[in-house]
Amino acid sequence: MLNDSDRIYQNLYGAGDWHLPGARARGDYADIGQILARGRDTIIEEVKASGMRGRGGAGFPTGMKWSFMPKQSDGRPSYLVVNADESEPGTCKDRDIIRNEPHKLVEGSLIAGFAMGAHTGFIYIRGEYFNEAARLQTAIDEAYAAGLLGPDAAGTGWAFDLVLHRGAGAYICGEESALLESLEGKKGMPRMKPPFPAAMGLYGCPTTVNNVETIAGIPTILRRGAAWFSGLGRPKNSGTKIFCISGHVNRPCNVEEELGIPLRELIETHAGGVRGGWDNLQAIIPGGASMPILNKTMCETQLMDFDSLSAVRSGLGSGAVIVMDQSADVVKAIWRLSKFFKHESCGQCTPCREGTGWMMRMMDRIVQNQASMADIALLEQVCAQVAGHTICAFGDAAAWPIQGLFRALRPLVESRAVDYQPALAAA
Ligand code: SF4
Repeated sequence: MLNDSDRIYQNLYGAGDWHLPGARARGDYADIGQILARGRDTIIEEVKASGMRGRGGAGFPTGMKWSFMPKQSDGRPSYLVVNADESEPGTCKDRDIIRNEPHKLVEGSLIAGFAMGAHTGFIYIRGEYFNEAARLQTAIDEAYAAGLLGPDAAGTGWAFDLVLHRGAGAYICGEESALLESLEGKKGMPRMKPPFPAAMGLYGCPTTVNNVETIAGIPTILRRGAAWFSGLGRPKNSGTKIFCISGHVNRPCNVEEELGIPLRELIETHAGGVRGGWDNLQAIIPGGASMPILNKTMCETQLMDFDSLSAVRSGLGSGAVIVMDQSADVVKAIWRLSKFFKHESCGQCTPCREGTGWMMRMMDRIVQNQASMADIALLEQVCAQVAGHTICAFGDAAAWPIQGLFRALRPLVESRAVDYQPALAAA
């Protein structure tokens, strides 16, 4: 279990002051001048050495992503964009960072902007986070008033402006290229890649898009050292992560823990255990709505990090742990997610636009006990034709929950078929 002293977010639950004086008392901005004085290359090398992987879901190494930004400008400005469009069902970690530790995000943006040669950073926050946006804007204003942002940010000679932009509430705007389109004032539709944002991003300029939790963690990593961060967690899965535990647990919560913590320990230590006890567990979605579900047997020994979860063909995703006990209708729960994905498809590529509707309607028939075994096999085919065949990862995100359901809980699905015949042995 993570020591309290190793927690990056000392005010995650909002017990202390979130304004600038409170943030300073917790050590934010303490030696910001010395950190920037190390130079951008050193900062990037330290972030690489820490092993920090993006906390938004994909888990791409952060330092490497920053190193893709041009060292010398060709005349175009570089931009940092912070993705605060937190919309993955079950996920509410960035919300708590913004509510209770907004200055960590502001300071992290300054450091990241400096490291990638950007004089302007944008934070794109989902429209529904109205109160959070107001609080974050207050924190940005406080930073400007204290000289921590602006033409001579924190007295370092580096000019850095930070702009908060509110989205309109579309899930797909959490996809980085759709986010950039939306920020430019267009419809939030993902772009074809390449070119990648580091070559041609916001307004056609070099851009890096990072998640809130990634950026907010950077100042502490640089203050405490790469070795401290990489000493937490497991090899290639280092550091801490905020997990959002919801569903059928006794105490749903957000908690910062080491990557690689056993799933069972995470739930029993921090969320009061599964409702009715561990044996009452049926299944868990380990990383937000788009990550494949795990059955109870898989949950017994599962470690919570990027590589351990991808080894069982699921994923850490956003770190949202959704627990379902024996009372849950898991098939119906996955149907509900299918309905969500159908609604949120941007519609520009055919397998996703048509496939999400197909998948939702076939899941609906299974839930209504109107599907046959042949329909179930057909649904599997449709999922395979959507996943990996679309412009952005949304097609995968829509197919994976169903494919995961088939892998982890197939008998549960088949038992709802109109022509279901229990296997002889089981009968
Ligand atoms: Fe849009 Fe879906 Fe295609 Fe992504 S996969 S670009 S969300 S239609």
